[in-house]
Amino acid sequence: MSEQSIASSSENPWGLSEATRRVPASGIVKVFNYGRTKPGLIPLWVGEGDQPTPAFICEAASRSLFNGETFYTYQGGIPPLREAISAYMSGLYGQNLEPERFFVTIGGMHALQIALRLVTGPGDEVIVPTPAWPNFDGAITANGATTRMVEMHLGPVRYELDFDAIAAAITPRTKAICINSPANPTGWTATRDDQERILTLARKHGLWIIADEIYGRFFYEGAGFSEKARAPSFHDIMDANDRVMFVQTMSKNWAMTGWRLGWLEAPPELTAAVASLIQYSTSGVPMALQRGAVAALEGGESLIQEQVTRARQNRDVLMAALSRQNGLTIPSPSGAFYLFLKVDGLSDSLESALRLVDVANVGVSPGVAFGKGGEGFLRICYLRKPEDIAEATKRLVAGLQMLRSAPRE
Ligand code: PMP
Repeated sequence: MSEQSIASSSENPWGLSEATRRVPASGIVKVFNYGRTKPGLIPLWVGEGDQPTPAFICEAASRSLFNGETFYTYQGGIPPLREAISAYMSGLYGQNLEPERFFVTIGGMHALQIALRLVTGPGDEVIVPTPAWPNFDGAITANGATTRMVEMHLGPVRYELDFDAIAAAITPRTKAICINSPANPTGWTATRDDQERILTLARKHGLWIIADEIYGRFFYEGAGFSEKARAPSFHDIMDANDRVMFVQTMSKNWAMTGWRLGWLEAPPELTAAVASLIQYSTSGVPMALQRGAVAALEGGESLIQEQVTRARQNRDVLMAALSRQNGLTIPSPSGAFYLFLKVDGLSDSLESALRLVDVANVGVSPGVAFGKGGEGFLRICYLRKPEDIAEATKRLVAGLQMLRSAPRE
C-alpha cells in the first residue's frame, strides 16, 4: 500500500511531474476513511491526542486577530516567538541556543520540507532508518530525491540501528540522514552512543543529519522517571559547525496539531537561504497563530507534564494487558506515544487494521504504512483519556484474538 503512488497508473493525462508521480500514497488514510464515521469507534490511528488546545493559548491568538495583526509577517517568525523558542530550548538542553537559530514554519512537516529543500534535489539520496513516519519518504520523493530505507534490527526487546547497513547505504549521492528519536511508529529512542556513531558517520561523509526530535519530552526511560525529563539529543554532542538541522513542532507538546505551527532549527549561517525558501513557499506563518505559540511556550509547562504523565500511564496499561497475550511482541516503547505491535502470523496489516474496525471498533494504523520492516505490525497511538485506553485495550485483546483464530482466507 505504501508502495502505491500516482505513477502506479501508467497514464499521465494531466502532465504531472515525475517527482509528483513517484510520491507514495499514505497507508493510514485508507483505514481512517473506512472507519471514520463508525459510531463509538475509538480512534488510535492518527498521531495526536484527544485534548483540544487550552484556552489561554487560543485567547492569545484571538486577541492578536482582534488587535489587527492581520498583515504580512516576518519570514522567519516574529521576534517574540523566536525568543520564546530560544528560551524554551535553551532551558531544555542546558545551553545557549540563540533566537537566530530558529525559523518558524507551518508545522513540523514544513520544517522537514525546508530542511530537505536546503540540502537535497533531484538525483540525491537520503537515508531513513525504518519503520519510519511515512512523511519522510513522501517529502524526500516530492523533492525529487530518493529515499534509501535502511531497516532497523529488531532485537529481543528493542529496535537497534543497523550501523553496517547504514554505512553500506551511503553513496556519493547521499546528502542526508533522517534520525527521528523518540520515533514514530516504534517508540525507539536513540542512546547517546547511537547519536555519537551517527554524528561520526555524518562528519566522515559530509552528510546532513535531519534530527526529528519532536517527541523529545515523551521519554520514559532512565533512572527515576520524571515529566521534566527529555530524551538524548544531538544538541548534547554536536559542535556549532556540525551539519545538523532539527525539525520541531508545537503540535504534540502543546496539543496544537491543527494549528500547523512548528520550527526548523538550523545554523544561523543558513538564514538567507531559509528565509528565501519560506518566502517562496508560505511567505510566513499567520501572526495570530504565532502569538498563540508564544503563550504556549511561556505558560505551557504544566500542560506538557500532564500530557507526558497521561501518556506514560496509558502506555503501562496497554503494555501490561498486551504483553500477556501470546503471539504479540511489543518492542520496548521508551519514548513517543505509540506502540508498534508485532502480531505473529499477520501478513497483511492493512487488511487486519480494516478488520479491527469491524470486529473491535478500534482504529489502528497498518504497519505496512511505515515502510521497510513494517508489515506484520500494527501501530497504536495512546495519547487519549485513560477511560478510552482502558476500553480500547479490552477491545483490542478480544479483536486480536479473533483475527488470529479466524484468519481470513
Ligand atoms: N515528525 C514526526 C515523527 C511526526 O510523527 C510528526 C507528526 N505526526 C511530525 C514530525 C510533524 O508534525 P506537524 O506537521 O503536525 O508539526
